[in-house]
Parts: sequence; structure tokens; C-alpha cells
Amino acid sequence: MLNKFCSFCGRNSREVKMLISSPSGNAFICDNCVNDAIDAVKLSGRKDTSKDFLALLPPVEIRQKLDEYIIGQDRAKKVLSVAVYNHYKRVNFNQTQDKNSIDVELEKSNILMIGPTGSGKTLMAKTLAKILDVPFAVADATTLTEAGYVGEDVENILLKLLQNANFDVKKAQRGIVYIDEIDKIARKGENRSITRDVSGEGVQQGLLKIIEGTVANVPPQGGRKHPHQECIQMDTSNILFIVGGAFVGLDKIVASRISGGSLGFGAVLKNNIDDNADMKYANKVSPVDLVKFGLIPEFVGRIPIVVGLHSLDKHALIKILTEPKNALVKQFKKMFSIDDIKLEITNDAVAKVAEMAIELKMGARGLRTILEDAMLDLMYDIPTEKNATESMKINKITINAEVISKVAKAKISHVKTDRKQENVNKKIAV
Ligand code: ADP
Repeated sequence: MLNKFCSFCGRNSREVKMLISSPSGNAFICDNCVNDAIDAVKLSGRKDTSKDFLALLPPVEIRQKLDEYIIGQDRAKKVLSVAVYNHYKRVNFNQTQDKNSIDVELEKSNILMIGPTGSGKTLMAKTLAKILDVPFAVADATTLTEAGYVGEDVENILLKLLQNANFDVKKAQRGIVYIDEIDKIARKGENRSITRDVSGEGVQQGLLKIIEGTVANVPPQGGRKHPHQECIQMDTSNILFIVGGAFVGLDKIVASRISGGSLGFGAVLKNNIDDNADMKYANKVSPVDLVKFGLIPEFVGRIPIVVGLHSLDKHALIKILTEPKNALVKQFKKMFSIDDIKLEITNDAVAKVAEMAIELKMGARGLRTILEDAMLDLMYDIPTEKNATESMKINKITINAEVISKVAKAKISHVKTDRKQENVNKKIAV
């Protein structure tokens, strides 16, 4: 008979009291090593390594961190700080519960952010993930289609999260997913049920499953799911889903409900609703309004926290350009300083960029477009100038309002022409 050895310490069967075989019979462990292993587990204290608790910052500190990156949006920051804190408190708490004897199960609360383009919705979700050090993924609801149709499966959202967690499933399972343009998958009419609505209701149904918590099969290569493909199983019950959109027209629905109740049927609070009254209505949105807008009730039920983000005025845009940790002006200055050039952007120029962004109607998203355009020629020429003789070298560049006006005017007229063209196309399509 072959002499057996402990696979851990190498002692043979004669040197120990007992050798325990592995189920396969290929490995053995001796009584000494079993005792050592028990001691090692005891030494690790009460910490159960199968559980992974997330270090949590209290809401006030989450909010303070958000302030470093995001200008304004005070109410949204407060609501999100509390929501995110509660979400991860719940995740930590549920890990301590014995699944068979849970008295109170804390349910997940996903979040809906309503606000115009470029108001900071994506930035808010991304920054929260950064603060909490959890994986993050952004998806666009308009690219999704219900299973069986051409387009992306909802599981691809989870794949992005998994990729961003370096395929660490456990980590990905407590990440944050932001789904943009959720308003675009609203069904077209409240009572539409006769024909299937491929791009709207079906996608909401698909999303519903992963948002409420399920074990999803994620195709590791992405693309459409394939019956013979090996899938990665991912439990979505601890993933925080934040969905967002501009919800154009929702203000009218909210207003008519409110006025319907207080002022009589059909009386719309006109003075309270204009393009910029986004916050006034967004914070009064009730589930019935969202259903009327075209979200299915089950979906609305899974996103109980609704918060509005306001559009950004000139003052806020100026702050965005200059104040946050990675403000655009700071970024451009840094870029030029690498080439030993001091870049100065005058206050007038900054104000002009903000004004032009408002005209572009892209919120803070327009800021980068305008600045990039204004800087293009400089960024094209400067690397060549670097090789110029000492006496010809550029050491300082000043950007004033005039420079911005020249470039941005062309940009704005271009966008306006595009919009006109879009309207023409729409008319033709109708
Ligand atoms: P949304 O998702 O609402 O369309 P984003 O979050 O994508 O808008 O904003 C686009 C960019 O504009 C961000 O990356 C950020 O640079 C800037 N931005 C938008 N809102 C803010 C804000 N409130 N504070 C600071 N920067 C902002």
C-alpha cells in the first residue's frame, strides 16, 4: 500500500494520529494541521470572511463629498446621500441575518432623478459610486430592447458593471447602475395594450426584473444571449439602480393633477409651470403622474425615491467652470502647464462660455463643447511652437470673451441649423 502524506505538513501516516482524506482521495490532512486550521479560524476573531461589510460614511459626510464635485442641486444631494446610506446600511444588515429566520426584511429603494440634460444626473450617480468605492456603470435606456428584438439585452447593463469590477462578481453585486433616458421608454399612451410596444413597455418589463432583484444570467462576451452560451450568474438584489431622465411634459401632468384637486377640473397652474419650474413640479411628482407619463405601475413601485434636479443658471455654470475639484478651467490650465504655458481665462470669458452654454440648451454639457472649440486652434499649434527658439517661445496665453464669442457663435448657429433640420425631418416623418 502506498504511503500517505499530509498534503499540508508532509508528515506520513506513521508520524501522525490520523490522516483524513479529501472526497476525491487525492489529498490528505493530518490531525495536527486540522487543529492548526481551527486555531487560525478562531484567531481571525468574529470576522466572518464570507461576509463583506461596506465601510459607510454617514449622510452628512456623503453630502460633503458630493459638494466637492457638484455645484447646486442641494435637495438632490441630501436625498441621495440619505438614500445611498440607507441602501448600503440595508446591504450590510441583511448580511447579518439568518435567511431562515428573518423577522424584518429591509427592501431595496431604487432612485429616480428628474432633471434636464446637463444638470448633473450622471455626475451625481458616478460621484456617489466613487465616494463609496463601489463599481459603477451607466446605460442608456434607449439602446435596450426586450428579449427577442434587435438591440441590447438588459443583461448587458450588468455586464458593464461586471467589467468595471474586473469580473469580481461579489463586488459588482453591490455596485451602482445609472440608467439614463428612462423617460424615453415610457409607453406611448396610458391605456395602450392592444399591440405590443417593443421599445417601451417590453423594456420596462425586462428592466423590472433586474431592478427588483433577481439572479440574472449575464453573457460574458456581451451581445445577444445565446442558448448555448455559458453565462455568469449575478444576483441583482443589492445593486442600487438610479434611473434618470428629463421627463418633458411631466410638469403638465403634475400640475393638472394638483390643480384638479384644489382648483377644480382642468384649471392648470400656468404660473407655476414654465421651462425653469422643473424643481417645483419634480419634487411633487407622485407615482400616478409617472404612470400617466407612461411608466408601468410595477416599475414605478420599484423606484420609490423621486428627486428633481434644477436646470443650471449662468451663475451655477460659472461655478461649474471654475470651482469643482476637476473644474474644466482647471483642467485646461493643467493641460497647458504641461507644455510650460500659463493659460489665463478671464472672468469675462468664463461668463461668456456660461451664456453660450445656456443658448445651446445643453446645460453644463455645453461648457466643454464650447471650451474645446475655443481651444482647438491653440491646442493644434502649441505642440509645434514648443520647438520654437527661446526668443519665439510662447509663455502665456490669455483667453478673453472675444475669443469665446467668435468660436461659440459659429457653434450655436450650427446647432440651431441642426435643430431646424430636425424639425423639418420630423414634419416629413409625420
Ligand atoms: P445629465 O446626466 O444630467 O445629462 P451630466 O451629469 O452628464 O448631465 O453632466 C454633464 C457634465 O456637466 C458633467 O460631466 C459635469 O462636468 C458637468 N456638470 C453637470 N452638472 C453639474 C453640476 N451640478 N456640478 C458640476 N458639474 C456639472
